[in-house]
Amino acid sequence: MAEKITPRSQDFSQWYQDVVLQAKLADYSPVKGCMVIRPNGYAIWEQIQKDLDRRIKKTGVRNAYFPMLIPESFLKREAQHVEGFAPEVAVVTYAGGKELEEKLVIRPTSETIINSMFAKWIQSYRDLPLLINQWANVVRWEMRTRLFLRTTEFLWQEGHTCHATPEEAELETRQMLEVYTKFAEETLAIPVIPGRKSENEKFAGALSTYCIEAMMQDAKALQAGTSHNLSSNFAKAFDTQFLDKDGKQKHVHQTSWGVSTRLIGGMIMTHSDDKGLVLPPKLATTHVVIIPIMAKVETKDQVLAACEKVSQSILDDAGIQKLPYDTGIFIDKDEQKQPGWKFFEYELTGIPVRIEVGPRDLEKGQVVLTRRDEGKKEFIPLADVPARVSAILIDMQKSLLEKARAHRDANTHRTETYEEFKAQIDKVGGFHVSPWCQSRECEAQVKEETKATIRCLPLDADYQTIPEPGKCMACGAAGPNIRAIFARSY
Ligand SMILES: [Zn+2]
Repeated sequence: MAEKITPRSQDFSQWYQDVVLQAKLADYSPVKGCMVIRPNGYAIWEQIQKDLDRRIKKTGVRNAYFPMLIPESFLKREAQHVEGFAPEVAVVTYAGGKELEEKLVIRPTSETIINSMFAKWIQSYRDLPLLINQWANVVRWEMRTRLFLRTTEFLWQEGHTCHATPEEAELETRQMLEVYTKFAEETLAIPVIPGRKSENEKFAGALSTYCIEAMMQDAKALQAGTSHNLSSNFAKAFDTQFLDKDGKQKHVHQTSWGVSTRLIGGMIMTHSDDKGLVLPPKLATTHVVIIPIMAKVETKDQVLAACEKVSQSILDDAGIQKLPYDTGIFIDKDEQKQPGWKFFEYELTGIPVRIEVGPRDLEKGQVVLTRRDEGKKEFIPLADVPARVSAILIDMQKSLLEKARAHRDANTHRTETYEEFKAQIDKVGGFHVSPWCQSRECEAQVKEETKATIRCLPLDADYQTIPEPGKCMACGAAGPNIRAIFARSY
């Protein structure tokens, strides 16, 4: 038997680490802060890539690849950008047996190197919009790291687009935020709040940053994706210009947007339980595990034959074919391991449906079916298995989202005063939708005194109007104020 997972109620952070390590999703690397993504974890990343890549391409974006090494001087061209990233940049100074004439930065993000190419490729308005995405690794030297959530090297996609007008750039920024919102909810089953970042929290070099914010089971926030309107900031630094219809040279207006392997951490902290990983079916590669009960020699062959039949009947079923993902089925015929060990293992690794096939149930023409997130056993007649599996996969995807949404809503509060906020954030955490005068000082004070930050200024008008924001939570100024979501975060 593997080690026991620490219960969430005892130590949430230890629970998370236990799930990641014991479900063999990732491991620590010899280099501090880096992570090794193991096959169980990488399979989830591949599902994320497949689904999101399709959504991104539907908006007309194409994939490309840019180098990992960036001349140091590139990073310095955009003043805010270098200031924002300097503390976490790793630099190559020595290669090919000698000191390099110009140091090379290992990309923390690719706005600069991509702009150097855009400047070459774009001449006229006919070259616009230019819509590029890349799937890549990036390196940001982090002091405090946690598997998937914050690692020195991580995998992500970064989209970079160029447009003729500021309006088009803003539309693109918002469109990608919408793509991320739908992806998070439909595929990861993570409910998110789309919003705008405060000036203080926005991307270094952006005009504005939009984000989606999720709530984990411990009522802390996790930023699940960002979309930046870069205006012409990088275009000016790299002289990315085009000849417009009116015959004038103009700088392009740009966007960039990304999500990373951090989503895997967010997905774990949203759905998993004290038995291990709970995986939304759309992210699973094995959806059903069939476990033959082979204790008696005389019924073993009959049981194994029944397992094959059950597996085939699921694969042949029209209902399964209509699901938006390939249904993977695995029959665990290993005789060295007891069924009890297998139950434990597949709960730990988050396989959505478990089917036990035993001689006594077969006599009654049935099998035992267990759904991972609910853990209840059902006796299902053989003929009904395919339909039941397909119904469970659909329902589980939906109910994980609903459960997470109910949890988030129960932990979201309209908090009007600072006294109330300070008491609540310590006691129950959660999201606090509170009035703010939009000053940096008030934002900094709240962060300093409570470790809570402004996660976003929610775009949904309901947050702003019911009830109308009154006096600023921090300074008491009468307004005009807006509502911001304050929370402690990962
Ligand atoms: Zn204030």
